Amino acid sequence: MNIQSAEVLVSSPGRNFVTLRITTDDGFTGLGDATLNGRELAAAAYLTEHVVPLLIGRDASRIEDTWQYLYRGAYWRRGPVTMAAIAAVDTALWDIKAKAAGMPLYQLLGGRSRDGLLVYGHASGVDVPELFDSIREHMDEGYRAIRIQTGIPGLPSVYGVAHSSNAAAGTAAGSDARYDYEPARRSALPVEETWDTRAYLRHIPTVFEAVRNEFGPELPLLHDAHHRLTPIQAAKLGKSLEPYDLFWLEDVTPAENQAVLRRVREHTTTPLAIGEVFNTIWDYRELFEEQLIDYVRSPVTHAGGITGLRRIFDFAAVYQIKSGAHGPTDVSPVGLAAAIHLGLSIPNFGIQEYMQHAPVTHEVFRTTYTFENGMLNPSDAPGLGVDYDDEVAAAHPYSGAYLPVNRLLDGSMHDW
Ligand SMILES: [Mg+2]
Repeated sequence: MNIQSAEVLVSSPGRNFVTLRITTDDGFTGLGDATLNGRELAAAAYLTEHVVPLLIGRDASRIEDTWQYLYRGAYWRRGPVTMAAIAAVDTALWDIKAKAAGMPLYQLLGGRSRDGLLVYGHASGVDVPELFDSIREHMDEGYRAIRIQTGIPGLPSVYGVAHSSNAAAGTAAGSDARYDYEPARRSALPVEETWDTRAYLRHIPTVFEAVRNEFGPELPLLHDAHHRLTPIQAAKLGKSLEPYDLFWLEDVTPAENQAVLRRVREHTTTPLAIGEVFNTIWDYRELFEEQLIDYVRSPVTHAGGITGLRRIFDFAAVYQIKSGAHGPTDVSPVGLAAAIHLGLSIPNFGIQEYMQHAPVTHEVFRTTYTFENGMLNPSDAPGLGVDYDDEVAAAHPYSGAYLPVNRLLDGSMHDW
């Protein structure tokens, strides 16, 4: 079972995606996701120029050896571009191995550990009444856990808040008119947003109080601070949200300096989730060993594939830390399917982010996973259960899009 070809497929059905398709000489194909939001062509070039030539003729069944070959063999370790490329190869090889075995991938990963993957959706509103509408819409769709983000008085646009005007004008890279928030914009330069941490810290506890008063104590609620706080600000936010019993508070600090999370932990029992921009097990060492977080946010797509992320989850389990994988629309349906198979099989699953892809995305990526009663499940199709339609994809060529950048009120650059 040798690799005969590997194609890098860049398309934009609703938003940009980078997909790797590996074909073996005995006719099996596998798909992997290497989408890196706003930097897609870097991942595509890394694959095309430096990885695909190394794959031709290799034994497709040697998944671990190929992972080590690409990771150690590059000499330049870690980093989002490298690890997204390795993830795409790894995922495609697992897809092939499962197809060759005639089994859905989760069976090769140890089989089903649960009935399905509990997911959370993204409710948002520019104000509290609009947020309530969005929460109700998500509950009507079956979501049993909900992330809430709102506008901040005085700030024209805020991370995580969908603008129906953007969807109507077609300016969002995702073309869906749901309340889901798609931050990437098709434009030559990134959109610039403005940020005021003090206004945010004053406002958010009042939003959670209103939501708990309206929807009661049971609904699991999540919130994303999106890397914008200092450790002491993060500690203050966690403490002020304790009465509202969050499932988790996400990305309170950028966390490149893992040790600063100690300060946050000293002050709050609000559970913390971190890691959507991390890509290796090494990024988590201190966070795990000191139990500074409760949930791991890395997705299959950015953390070296099934092989890389399963190692991270096993390391997390030693410290009773659970999975909570990143699942925005820039993780393609291939990446999401891989997350579903992995999440179904691991012992320490926590929750899966599920921001539904636009209908046009599913015209290119033909998926078989299902969303029912707030849970995702794979089908029993062999492999990942996803096909890629080249003809439809050809009608949706790459079109540059960027995530926004963020400035403080005085014009200084800040973390977006
Ligand atoms: Mg996040």
